[in-house]
Amino acid sequence: MSGLDFAHQEIEELKKQGVFRPLRVLSSPQGPRAEIDGHRVINLSSNDYLGLANDPRLKRAAIEATERYGAGTAAVRTIIGTLDLHLELERRLAAFKGTEAAIVFQSGFTCNSGVIPVLVGEGDVIISDALNHASIIDGCRLAKAEIRRYAHKDMAELEQQLQAAQGFRRRLVITDGVFSMDGDIAPLPQIVRLCEQYGAISYVDDAHSSGVLGKNGQGSVHHFGLQGRVDVQVGTLSKAVGVLGGYVATSRDMVDLLIHRGRPFLFSTSHPPAVTAAAIEAIDIMEREPELIARLWSNARRFKEGLSALGFNTGHSETPITPVIIGGEREAMQFSDELFRLGVFAQGIAFPTVPKGQARVRTIVSAAHSEEDLSEALSAFERAGRSIGVI
Ligand SMILES: *Cc1c(COP(=O)(O)O)cnc(C)c1O
Repeated sequence: MSGLDFAHQEIEELKKQGVFRPLRVLSSPQGPRAEIDGHRVINLSSNDYLGLANDPRLKRAAIEATERYGAGTAAVRTIIGTLDLHLELERRLAAFKGTEAAIVFQSGFTCNSGVIPVLVGEGDVIISDALNHASIIDGCRLAKAEIRRYAHKDMAELEQQLQAAQGFRRRLVITDGVFSMDGDIAPLPQIVRLCEQYGAISYVDDAHSSGVLGKNGQGSVHHFGLQGRVDVQVGTLSKAVGVLGGYVATSRDMVDLLIHRGRPFLFSTSHPPAVTAAAIEAIDIMEREPELIARLWSNARRFKEGLSALGFNTGHSETPITPVIIGGEREAMQFSDELFRLGVFAQGIAFPTVPKGQARVRTIVSAAHSEEDLSEALSAFERAGRSIGVI
């Protein structure tokens, strides 16, 4: 007997439901094709939208920064862990996003857990889309504000919630820019209009829009032409930007407040120089080469059309995230396993990440996939789909 027996029982339960997943192991760089669990496969599961994770220019920047500054920073930002390089990245991000200032956190996840409790507290209310990311949900729990949800993208319900929330000191409306499991885009113009009308703080988490939406990948605010009208834009450096980190692009005062109150910023060590220098290089590339983003979108369109033509249900996706909705949890996992056997890696995703009965494999194409990668992947989807009977 041990105090951890419950862990064994819970694992057995997951196995019984057919959703226990050992970790897949990558033994090559991230890329359009990768070596996963010892097999060379077409990779449709990474967030490396622009193919920057293994870009030689990012690697060179990381190596040079390591040579110059060392491997780690050994301090939090507020003590002696702020390098001139960190400030350069923040200046570059603010210019890229067109905001007064920006501040970098260790990850997109810690951004949400650090920022939300600074924006709202006791006597305030958070109004959050029902499908927002787990890190937003956790950030909301850390704030001592009341939490209310509106049905996914339901603007009538958001308005009702805002009307009902006029007695609170501050109102915060928070949404993903692109929703990570369905690939649909938040109705940001309506959200912004309602925030302006009802005096609420607007907050968009652009993790899956950074490097994807907007001509140079600036995100959902640029995509909709809403520059200057969204109070807080969170972005990630870990997905399309190819490295690691999260940032907030907002007002100068808000950044100064986060420096004093953002708990991950205050109590967790800053990024290694290699991470910061590689992220700066990625921003250079995104500013200089909008054709990368154009290629991402043409690949996404081609793949989505191919899947629909085969008769798969791809839900409401409007972005390079394309779910292939299977339904049953076990069937979705079988479908993913069959694809893998055929040389394609597309992760199966089940409850609680998505609602019960909507299990799926999620695909993300990148700018780096070739025509051949995509047509080979589509043939594997066709064969796997027929063999488990979903098409
Ligand atoms: C992935 C994701 C995050 C986490 O970003 P990391 O930089 O990987 O920590 C936060 N928010 C949303 C909406 C995400 O999709």
